[in-house]
Amino acid sequence: MLSRKKQLAVWLIWLAIWPTVMILLFNYEFVNASFRLSDLLVFIILTSMVAYLPITINKTPIFLINSVSLATFLIFGLFGEIIITQLAVMSVIVRLKITRTEHYRIPLNLLLFLGVSIVSAFVYYSLAPFTSKQFVILDQNILQLFAYVFTSFVANQVMLYYVKRYYYKIKAPLLNEGFYFSLLSISYTLPTGILIVYLHQIFGPAGVLMMSVQIVAISIAIKLYYKSKKTTENLQNVNQIAQKLTGHLSREGVVDTYLNMLPERFAIETMMLYDIVDQDKLQLIHFYKNGKIMQTSQELIEMKELTIVERVFKREKLLYYDKAKQWKHYLLPELQNQGESLVAMPIKRNQQITAILIIVDNKRYTFDESLLSTFTVLNSYFGIALENSKYYENMRADSQTDHLTNLPNLRSFENFIRDYQEKLETSINLTLNCSLLMIDIDHFKYVNDQYGHESGNEVLIQIADLMHLFFDDMGEVFRYGGEEFLVFLPNYSHESSVNVAESFRKLVEQNEFTSHNYMVENHPTISLDLTVSIGVASYPKETEDINALIRLADRAMYLGAKRSGRNKVGVYQQ
Ligand code: GH3
Ligand code: MG
Ligand code: MG
Repeated sequence: MLSRKKQLAVWLIWLAIWPTVMILLFNYEFVNASFRLSDLLVFIILTSMVAYLPITINKTPIFLINSVSLATFLIFGLFGEIIITQLAVMSVIVRLKITRTEHYRIPLNLLLFLGVSIVSAFVYYSLAPFTSKQFVILDQNILQLFAYVFTSFVANQVMLYYVKRYYYKIKAPLLNEGFYFSLLSISYTLPTGILIVYLHQIFGPAGVLMMSVQIVAISIAIKLYYKSKKTTENLQNVNQIAQKLTGHLSREGVVDTYLNMLPERFAIETMMLYDIVDQDKLQLIHFYKNGKIMQTSQELIEMKELTIVERVFKREKLLYYDKAKQWKHYLLPELQNQGESLVAMPIKRNQQITAILIIVDNKRYTFDESLLSTFTVLNSYFGIALENSKYYENMRADSQTDHLTNLPNLRSFENFIRDYQEKLETSINLTLNCSLLMIDIDHFKYVNDQYGHESGNEVLIQIADLMHLFFDDMGEVFRYGGEEFLVFLPNYSHESSVNVAESFRKLVEQNEFTSHNYMVENHPTISLDLTVSIGVASYPKETEDINALIRLADRAMYLGAKRSGRNKVGVYQQ
């Protein structure tokens, strides 16, 4: 958004320059020219046709007006040419449906093209004394004609570049696609302009109208060319985003990739993702605006308060609006008084709508059919990637859980240690303590032998639950295998972990375990007294290699606890 000051400035400059120049030119040049009004009228018709078919390259409208304005200049002089170009600029502005807040673009563009007209005419007239009588076509020196067209091209590009840079503060390169297109179009402008003059000399207004067919046809052809180019570009973006999405296996990775790539690839200004919670409640989980990710509140919103979202949810299909007027009365608190084009799309996972994505643009009529179908394809890729990631995450969780005790298993412990080690390596504080306990139930085989394997299982579940409760906020409990468990205690020094182990040993000793005797009929309830042997190993006191902790804890358990009579806490001794 431009500041009010800048907007006002451009209007004031326009007011100071434009009328004066026009009146001066009218008095000194136009009133002396001799032509028929019907001739000028035909040119106006031709101009409006060309202006009606602007081609937008890099958000800059380019149109084949140059050949018409060259012919006008040669036939009617500078004032006639200015009238034609200014008219063309106005119709392009109307055609592009700029919004009320963009009013400053009117004086800005009028001034820009006025400047181009004057500079080109100046070069043309200045060259007149130096041109020879050779190389003349239709009473015009070819060099002079070329200089006129070339100056017009250069002046246009340079002015556009500086306006973008200093007025809009956009750093776009001078030599962009629009530049080359305009340069190329000189080879069209020059002969076509001369042809218009020639046809005008021979056939009068009818000759000019004949040319309109050719110009309109070329405009349409270029438009179609750029449309297919745009579609190809969209498809390439779809392909790249889809590839990146399938490369991620976690939900977080998929969501992050999608929400980052979408605005970058499709020049999106505002984007919101509403998560659907419990069918009728929403949560805004992502809000992107002009290159920044905005803070979102955790608050749940009633779905019926956001009509747009509710409609998309009920109809299960995309909804779009070309201008703010059509959707402003549907409350979207984040978008008060801003944005014009809006598209709201369902994100489906497994046939169910799980989120709604809203994209808003500050210009009207931004979302054409090709872009909307591109978004639809992308959203379904997104949905599938989400589904896959959920499936993968479930599988992963499943493969890392012990199904008897519901504790994380050895594989989970290995991953945990790997992650912890990575964290240690990147951490500044290398003196971080941590300890590992290996806990083994004493004479567990006896439970199995005496009361049956099922009874052993019941005991394992109870002891796992006890550990889960006891070590809850101290560390992580894992089932190592059989009747052996691991407890990882981050930030626990050797001494404090021995104390914790001792407390747990006592807790087990005092705890009464209940099970059933599966060896006899009716499986009567039994109560069991159990003890555990615990081995303790600490980092960095006993080893500087975190992976060695498990081996040391195991040794501490056997040598320090089992061998010394069980129901003990053993520490590692070299
Ligand atoms: P110690 O005091 O020396 O540790 O004696 P222990 O009997 O506990 O040790 P041992 O290693 O000889 O026996 C462990 C037993 O645990 C053997 C095995 O049958 C049993 N076990 C391992 N996994 C399971 C399980 O998932 N369920 C049941 N019920 N028993 C299991
Ligand atoms: Mg054992
Ligand atoms: Mg044992």
